[in-house]
Order: sequence, then structure tokens, then C-alpha cells
Amino acid sequence: MEHYFDNAATTKPCAEAAAAVMSCISTHYGNPSSLHRKGLEAQHEMEFARQQIAAALGCKAQEILFTSGATESTNLALRGAAAAYGRKRKKIIVSAVEHASVKETMAHLETQGFQIVAVPPDKNGIYHAADFLKEVDAETCLISMMLVNNENGARLPAEEVFRSAKRRDPEIITHCDAVQGFLKVPMKTRTLGADLISLSGHKVHALKGAGALYVRQGVRLRPVLYGSHQEKGLRPGTESVPLIAAFGAAAGALFPTIEQRYQKVSQLREALIQGLQKMDGVIIRDIPGASPYVLNISLLGYRSEIVLHYLEQREIYISSGSACSKGASSGVLELFGAKPEEVDSALRISFCAENTEEDVAALLQGLQDAQRELMH
Ligand code: PLP
Repeated sequence: MEHYFDNAATTKPCAEAAAAVMSCISTHYGNPSSLHRKGLEAQHEMEFARQQIAAALGCKAQEILFTSGATESTNLALRGAAAAYGRKRKKIIVSAVEHASVKETMAHLETQGFQIVAVPPDKNGIYHAADFLKEVDAETCLISMMLVNNENGARLPAEEVFRSAKRRDPEIITHCDAVQGFLKVPMKTRTLGADLISLSGHKVHALKGAGALYVRQGVRLRPVLYGSHQEKGLRPGTESVPLIAAFGAAAGALFPTIEQRYQKVSQLREALIQGLQKMDGVIIRDIPGASPYVLNISLLGYRSEIVLHYLEQREIYISSGSACSKGASSGVLELFGAKPEEVDSALRISFCAENTEEDVAALLQGLQDAQRELMH
């Protein structure tokens, strides 16, 4: 029996998403730009998905653009806003713990003459809005802060930062990577204060290859790709209607159950933490206020990859704790205060509401056996 705890990496598509894909590939397979009925059917599927995502986000349907995923959404948001608003103001402020899609876009914008200021958490791994806000000045064109960190579930004070920055200077454009928060923790565009929000379908039980960008009405972006008129000319190219419809269907199915799923996942996480507390040599990064969907731990003395592959033999699937690229850590856990040996042995356990108490028991048993059987 499978025990899947890698939901921050990707999720299993839900039945509603699968049904939407089937309907779009078997019946509504037209090009949404075609003028005949087949085209209109496809367009209808897409617009329905737009409404479902907008309803979940609490915004207008016309404020949602479809993309291939959050990486593309973030590229369009940040590069598009920098091009539209960054002629005079050249400063961009970001959190230092962003996903590579923000971090690498910043590296690119730096080569275009922008000054990037990356704000780390304090020495205890806590983010203070004030540390961010003290960087805001008349040169600031853009601010980007994620809602929930993908490596340890930490919630960043995005709402406070965006709203205070906007109050100070309404011309500053604010972007939020909400990939790990959307449909998991309560969020609404109205209260978040972000002009731009990146979302990904495959993290919320839809499929890989569809994402969305919320663009607050009135915010201007320059396109990153050039071509036809689709998605207001900001994302030209024929839309992947099956993947978009699946994203909409998943959002429609998940939105009414955010609270229930949050409670269930919190209980599972708590049961896991209680079990881990009985073991020796485990560091539990139980960050106050974190999303219950992600827990980062270290099994001290055991390299992450070795444990990951050990558990895989029992059909238990987790991630190494630091988003590694070619063996190098992303540096995020270190910024949150982890020591190098803790990073080498870090494991990320990420839940979904389909997980059960049996899954948690299997994981705890697997970790205990790993400590007994694996070489230190
Ligand atoms: N942002 C965060 C916080 C993520 O966790 C991920 C996926 O790992 C992404 C962005 C990228 O999403 P996508 O795979 O849809 O490009």
C-alpha cells in the first residue's frame, strides 16, 4: 500500500480533474479561438475553469490568466511588471527564501539593471514585516513574498508587508507566490493586498502543465512571450484546455472543503509530531503558525537521500528536506537557522487530506526502522 507524503512536490489528480480532462479530450477538443461550435465548447470549458479559480481566490474571473504553471506565472508577473513599471524605479525587494522561480527571475532582472534586495528571516528563523518594510523607499518598484514556504511550511507575513507597503506608496507592485497556500490555507485577494498572485494546478490535485496568474484589474504587464491574442496577449499560444479545465475542476472541488481538510491535515501532522517526539535524534521544525501541510525534520546522522530511498522500498514517499539542485542545498533551511549537519539529514513530509492515520503510523515505523537498520 502506498503512503504518499510528497504533496508539496506534486499531488495526485482528483476524480473531478480526471473527469474534466476526459471530457475535454474526448468531446470538447476544439480550439477555444475557433468560431464554430467546437471552439465555443472549448472556450466554455476554459471560462468555467476561470470562474472556479476566481471564486476560490475571491476575485473577478477576468483577473485570472492561464499559464503552464507557477514558474511561468511568476516569470510573467515579475518580468512583466518590471518592464511595465521599472523604467525609473529600479529596486525590487524579495524574501530570501523564495522558490527558484522567483530567485532565478531576480537573477535575470539583476542583469537588466535592477537592484535586488533579498530579506532573510531573523536569527531565530522568524520573518518580521518590519525588516522588509524598512527596505521600502522611493526607488522601490516591486515586492515579492511567498505565502507559505515550500520547504518547511513557514508562513510569511505577506499580507502585512503588501498592505503596509501599498499604504505607504500605492505605486509599488506586489507579487505573491501562493503555490503552497492556495486551497490549503484561507486566503483572499481582497485581504492579501497582492497585485499579482502565482498559482499552480498540480499542487492542488489538478495536473502538471497548468497554472494561473491573478492580475489585479488595472495592473499593467508587458508580455514575456509574443504571438497571438490569447489571454489578453499576455500568454499567447493555444490554451491547454484539458489541463485548464482540470485545474478549474480541482479548485471547484477543493474550495468548499478548505477548513475540513486543514483540520484533518493538522491532526495528522500533530500525530506525526507526537510520534517523532518519542524518538531520539530527530529535529522537528515545528514553526509557530506554519501551514500544517508541510513538516520538515532532520534524522540526525542519516543523509536525506539514503532515508528517502529506504522508505521508498516500503512505498513511503517523502522528499529530501532542502530543495536540492544537483546535490547543493537551496540554502533556505540554513536561513531559517538549520546547521549544515541538520540540512544534510533534512526530510520534508508534505500532507494532503487523503492521508490517513495508517499512513502516519507506516511513516513513523519506517523512520524508526531506518534509524535501526541504516549505517550512521
Ligand atoms: N513556487 C513554489 C513555492 C513551489 O513550491 C513550486 C513548485 O515546486 C513552484 C513555485 C513552481 O510551480 P510549477 O511547478 O507549477 O512551475
